[in-house]
Amino acid sequence: MQQQQQDTISALQAMDAAHHLHPFTDSADLAKRGTRVIERAEGVYIWDAKGNKLLDAMAGLWCVNVGYGRKSIADAAYAQLQTLPFYNNFFQCTHEPAIRLASKIASLAPGHMNRVFFTGSGSEANDTNLRMVRRYWDLKGMPSKKTIISRKNAYHGSTVAGASLGGMGFMHQQGDLPIPGIVHIDQPYWFGEGRDMSPEAFGIKTAQALEAKILELGEDKVAAFIAEPFQGAGGVIIPPDSYWNEIKRILEKYNILFILDEVISGFGRTGNWFAAQTLGLKPDLITIAKGMTSGYIPMGGVIVSDRVADVLISDGGEFAHGFTYSGHPVAAAVALENIRILEEERLVDKVRTDTGPYLQDRLQTLSAHPLVGEVRGMGMVGAIELVADKHSMVRFGSEISAGMLCREACIESGLVMRAVGDTMIISPPLCITRDEIDELIFKASQALSLTL
Ligand code: PLP
Repeated sequence: MQQQQQDTISALQAMDAAHHLHPFTDSADLAKRGTRVIERAEGVYIWDAKGNKLLDAMAGLWCVNVGYGRKSIADAAYAQLQTLPFYNNFFQCTHEPAIRLASKIASLAPGHMNRVFFTGSGSEANDTNLRMVRRYWDLKGMPSKKTIISRKNAYHGSTVAGASLGGMGFMHQQGDLPIPGIVHIDQPYWFGEGRDMSPEAFGIKTAQALEAKILELGEDKVAAFIAEPFQGAGGVIIPPDSYWNEIKRILEKYNILFILDEVISGFGRTGNWFAAQTLGLKPDLITIAKGMTSGYIPMGGVIVSDRVADVLISDGGEFAHGFTYSGHPVAAAVALENIRILEEERLVDKVRTDTGPYLQDRLQTLSAHPLVGEVRGMGMVGAIELVADKHSMVRFGSEISAGMLCREACIESGLVMRAVGDTMIISPPLCITRDEIDELIFKASQALSLTL
C-alpha cells in the first residue's frame, strides 16, 4: 500500500474515533484498534480501504439479499429522486411507488395478509406491532389484553419498544428495560440449553413455556406472542421440529395474536418469500425490513392480516401512528426493483431447491472439525457452535473468546462471518453461487484451523 493511501486511511480512522459513535460498539476499544473502512462492494464481495477483498458471508447485516452492485437499483432510486424525492402518506395522500409496493408485498405474503404499514426500519416496525396489537384488543372491547410475550435472547430491534420486546439481557441492563407489559419465556436453544433431552422433547417443553406464561398472567391479559422464525442475532437458533405446532395450538386455544418477526427471514432467506410459508405458520402480523430493499436504502414495515386490518379499519377511526418516512417513495422504488430482481433471477426458488440445500450440505462438512460441536442451518443461514472439547461438548470458558478469535481468523482468510459468543453465524447474499459457497466453506475451514 502506498504511503499516501495509508495516510488517508489513518486520517479517516482518527476522524472516526473523534466524531463517530458506532452502534453496538465499545468506542474506547475501537479507537485503540482502528476501524476497518469498507470502500466498495460487488456481488458477494466487499473491499476495504486497504484493498483487502472479503467474501461477505453475512450479506452486510443479513440484508443484501440480491448482492452488491446492482445498477438497476441505483437507476430506480435515481429516477425516483428526480420525479418525486419525497412525499408523505399522511392526510389522504400517497404516491405510486408506495401503492405498488404494498400491493406487490400483499401478493407475495400468505393469502390471509393483504395490507402493509410502512416504517423506516425493523425496530420501528416492531414498535408499530406493539401499538397495533394493543389497539386491536381495545377495539375488540378487551382492553385488558395488553401484555406481549417474547423470548429470552430474541432480537426485535433497538428502540425502547424493540429492545424491550427483544430478550437480550445486556440490552435490558442499559436503560431500565423492558418497559412494562412485556415478558420473556425460555428460548428453544437445544444445543445450548436442552441437551439433557431429545430435540423433540425440548421443542415441546419450550413451547409449553408459552402456555404456562399465559396461564400465569391470565388469558385476558395477553395481547400477543412475538417470535423470530429462527433467532438470528441470538445465534441462528432454529427451534426443533416439534416447536411450532405446539405454539400454534397454544395461540389458537387462548386467542392470542401472533407477531412473526421476519426482518431477517423475509424476502427469501428460507427458500420462500416468508418463513411463515416455509414453516406453515399463520401469523397475524409479520415484521419486515432488511431484505425488503436488500439494504440499499432503509425501509421496514408490518404486513397485516385481514383479521387485524378489518378491525382497525372498520371499527377504529384514525390509527394515531406513523412516521415521516412511512412508505418513502425512493425506498419504495428501490424495494420494487429489488423484488423484481429476486423474481427475475428466481433467487428465492434457488434458495429452496438449489443453493440453499447445497450450502447446508457443504456446511455440514465443517462438523468434522475438532473445534465444532454442532452445525445447523436452513435455507441461506447457518451456525457453527465452537466447543473446547468435541466429545463432552464442553464450551470454552470466559477466559477464551473462541468466537472473536475465529472471526479474526476469518478476516485473515478473506471471509466475513459474525460471532455471537462462541457461535459463528452466516447469512450470505441469496445470489451466492455454488462456486462461491465452495469458497466460503474453504475459507471457513481454513479459519477454524487458524483459530486455536
Ligand atoms: N427484528 C429482527 C429479527 C432483526 O434481526 C432486526 C435487526 O437485526 C430488527 C428487528 C431491527 O431492525 P432494524 O435494525 O432495521 O431496526
